[in-house]
Amino acid sequence: MPSLLQGLLDGMLELVYPTRCAGCDLPGSVLCDACRGSLPLIDASSACPRCGAPFGWLVCTECWDRELAFARGIALGSLEQPLSRIVTLYKDAGERRLATELAQLLFGATKPWRGWPDLVTCVPATERARRRRGFDHALDISLGLAELLDVPHAQVLSHERALDQRALGRNDRFANAAGTFRASNALAGNVLLVDDVLTTGATLDDAARALLAAGAAEVRVATIARAW
Ligand SMILES: [Zn+2]
Ligand SMILES: [Zn+2]
Repeated sequence: MPSLLQGLLDGMLELVYPTRCAGCDLPGSVLCDACRGSLPLIDASSACPRCGAPFGWLVCTECWDRELAFARGIALGSLEQPLSRIVTLYKDAGERRLATELAQLLFGATKPWRGWPDLVTCVPATERARRRRGFDHALDISLGLAELLDVPHAQVLSHERALDQRALGRNDRFANAAGTFRASNALAGNVLLVDDVLTTGATLDDAARALLAAGAAEVRVATIARAW
């Protein structure tokens, strides 16, 4: 029986290469209870309502002088250990089982927005990144989140052109990101946009702009980590 054989193979693989925690590397599970309990979580009630940065409940210094296309943002945590290691392992070591964990954690973090989204979507990976990693990292998380929220999911954004934000300063990132994304479908209602990390918000800003141009009433962003 294929399923029995698969189970046997999985069991043997687990013996040779035990599942290790993405946070602390100890064998046992993909994310251990200790690491789950020590994540640098951001409390949305005291965070910047725009980008999800901690301690900016009025709007943080990064957002106050900037017009952003997304109306609100929630970040699960700060890009610090063990969350930074978890994000790296998920994206670059291909530990796709973490998508389920991260979707569950994001489901918890976005509790203040229950009932708000009509559609869940994500920032698509570039073709190059998808080829290198073998999967679209934000897509797996947003699919999981949509399922938990019981809200439809659609991958409506695509790249109009490639985008590389590395080695660019804050203002240059916004100029560089403009016109990157296009939304394929005609949209209506509230759209929840998912990505892994929000640094300046330039990528998410352009993605949100494309969603609004396609007819979305309001766009909010949910990210795994807020970075500086
Ligand atoms: Zn751990
Ligand atoms: Zn902010």
